[in-house]
Amino acid sequence: MTSTAKRIYPGATIGIIGGGQLGKMLAQSALRMGYKTAVLDPAEDAPAGAVCHTFIQADFSDEDALKQLAEVSDVLTYEFENIDAHILRELVSDYYVPQGAETVLTLQNRESEKNAVKQGGATVVPFENVYHDADIQSFISEHGYPVIVKTSTGGYDGKGQYYIDSDETLEDLNIPFQDADFIVEKYIDLEREVSLTAARSAEGQVIIFPLQENLHRNQILYRTIAPSRLDYTASATEEVHKIMEALHFAGVFTVEFFIDKAGKLYVNEIAPRPHNSAHHTIESCNISQFDAHILSIANQPMPEVYQHQDAVMMNLLGVDLDRLDDTLFDYPDWHVHLYGKTERKPERKMGHVTILTDNVEETLKEIKADFEKES
Ligand code: ADP
Ligand code: MG
Repeated sequence: MTSTAKRIYPGATIGIIGGGQLGKMLAQSALRMGYKTAVLDPAEDAPAGAVCHTFIQADFSDEDALKQLAEVSDVLTYEFENIDAHILRELVSDYYVPQGAETVLTLQNRESEKNAVKQGGATVVPFENVYHDADIQSFISEHGYPVIVKTSTGGYDGKGQYYIDSDETLEDLNIPFQDADFIVEKYIDLEREVSLTAARSAEGQVIIFPLQENLHRNQILYRTIAPSRLDYTASATEEVHKIMEALHFAGVFTVEFFIDKAGKLYVNEIAPRPHNSAHHTIESCNISQFDAHILSIANQPMPEVYQHQDAVMMNLLGVDLDRLDDTLFDYPDWHVHLYGKTERKPERKMGHVTILTDNVEETLKEIKADFEKES
């Protein structure tokens, strides 16, 4: 046990920075176990606002408000990973934040993230920092087309990414180098994407969830199948252990992987918080990723993970809800989660559906018509 690890018991307040769907589902787990929660989020109608004991509406850069959250909390955690470095370090020095500051700060930046992964001995896709089109050109002359340029910080769901497959696209893109830092990486001809979710308690107990198979559309997670039909559990678990050597984790985290056509596994990125691809664990496992996060930051023992049944999880974006609004509850075997976001946007994550099944292929066929977008 590190000197700072302490047990947090029911009745105590868990402070959560960020009140989106991840914060909401964390608060629901905490509430079920008898913890109180306090949530900070900039949006008045943040999903977690409906299920927490104390809601503080403030910007993530509002240091006083974050301290106010810390004051009413016995332990602090976050679903929002882009907390300002200076504020986070202050919170960590003055309050109990078992996840600490350094891991999340390393992971905020794709360059330091990939370097940490490499340092641990895990494999990443070839990448370089780029400051001008010429840097991208020289990367392309070494690695060939296609490549993908990404903002080093702040990107999610494919935001801030530029796919480049020819000289013309690079010229037309006008990448705003003056406004942000960028990396370029080789674009992998993907056989599959998978992710592995794990939780590590403040005291060091580690549990690992089943390997998840993820399909993205427009760089947004579309569907997860768990367990993955391609069994890379052993190699992915090995990579996760290497990453845990390089980075200190407390709480739940997910490592996203690429598998290329030759069957080679690469670490894509790491999320030090609950992850969309592990939402199925709420219904499919003996412990959900949200329960695991609460227990691990509370430093309470966790059971080994057991999956009751195979699961298919489909995200519900605004466009999906537009189609499914009237029929969503016509399927009694769909576990429907709606996050309670008031504003619907076509590409906004509004909810998800988990279906437990004894026959994944059959289930995929059955739901195809309901979820297939006309494109
Ligand atoms: P975000 O932070 O937005 O999740 P990711 O780097 O995970 O960014 O990219 C989102 C998705 O875009 C990935 O899950 C994958 O489907 C696709 N993608 C990103 N980088 C690559 C790459 N180098 N090769 C192939 N596909 C990629
Ligand atoms: Mg990603």
